[in-house]
Amino acid sequence: MIPLVDLRAQYQEIKHEVEAAIHRVLESSRYVLGPEVEAFEQGFATFCRTRHAVAVNSGTSALHLALLAAGVGPGSEVITVPFTFVATVAAILYAGAKPVLVDIDPRTLTIDTGKIEAAVTSRTVAILPVHLYGHPADMDPILQIAKKHGLMVIEDCAQAHGAQYRGRPVGSIGAIGCFSFYPSKNLGAYGEGGAVTTDDDDLAHKVRLLRDWGAAQRYTHLLKGYNYRMDAIQGAILRVKLAHLEKWTESRRHHARSYDRLLAHSGVETPIAQDWARHVYHVYGIRSENRDAIRKSLLARDIHCEVHYPIPVHLQPAYADLGYQKGDFPTAESVAETQLSLPMYPELTQSQIEAVAAVIGEAAAEESCRHEQ
Ligand SMILES: *Cc1c(COP(=O)(O)O)cnc(C)c1O
Repeated sequence: MIPLVDLRAQYQEIKHEVEAAIHRVLESSRYVLGPEVEAFEQGFATFCRTRHAVAVNSGTSALHLALLAAGVGPGSEVITVPFTFVATVAAILYAGAKPVLVDIDPRTLTIDTGKIEAAVTSRTVAILPVHLYGHPADMDPILQIAKKHGLMVIEDCAQAHGAQYRGRPVGSIGAIGCFSFYPSKNLGAYGEGGAVTTDDDDLAHKVRLLRDWGAAQRYTHLLKGYNYRMDAIQGAILRVKLAHLEKWTESRRHHARSYDRLLAHSGVETPIAQDWARHVYHVYGIRSENRDAIRKSLLARDIHCEVHYPIPVHLQPAYADLGYQKGDFPTAESVAETQLSLPMYPELTQSQIEAVAAVIGEAAAEESCRHEQ
């Protein structure tokens, strides 16, 4: 059996450090926020090269508070993509604003920067690009459009810890970055977690207030806030894991090169990292017209794979009221029909990668024979 991700393998490597960290928190009696979370925030800000990181209880909360701090509210519009995890669009609705969707670029699978300007209206407040699968969006054109129209840029970095755009870490490029530490993300807690990164002192201050009931001091509520605080145990675990993240990212990148090489002549499309990108391969996604047959062959050999994502947000039943239809975003819809995520995690072995590639090679060859007949 080859899993899609193997969280237990990673736990085995850092077990002693994690257990010591948890024990430290239990003995401290500081269970929510506190010194462990503050130390993690400092470490994560350094990692992202930002002045601030504010830890919260999920990536969704990070997006919600980033939008509120950016001044997004009822009557405003936020431009984002239909090809993302649903939380990106949901957070815009949490803030009371209207999501305005723009199709993705077929090469990067991130926002098509040539289509943004046509979506800008007098109500647009922010652009929310998603660094999907760990590949950064093309930020320079986004920043230019934002500057021209006076818009905020909020990065959804939930899948892209450590990714870089022209040498700059994601989360440090727009006004605000939003990260998730859901267990299966490249930096994952052992529970829920998230963070907001920014260089802006005021935005950081606002997010800090909003995550803890809008209170700067106990029982004085300056803003209508939320309970979005990070647990101390998660902060302590994330501190341990952050120290290993670069090594794990390099392993992912190494595995991606192996897949690239082994699948080069298999007939499936492999992901292409742009020359301005440091891709961190949260997902290693291939594309093929024969996706369903390949998926079946892999599952028959007990090799786990997954489609990220089979239904773009604009076609989700829950978001029908956004008013979009099938055909509105052809690239997103086509990727949803052809994409397949292969096993990807730092502890993956070369022989596992070879086994996966061999099954894909066989399945793709069989399918192309069938089509020729
Ligand atoms: C995981 C994810 C989120 C949400 O993060 P949670 O921690 O699960 O709330 C948001 N956006 C994207 C692109 C994600 O992958």
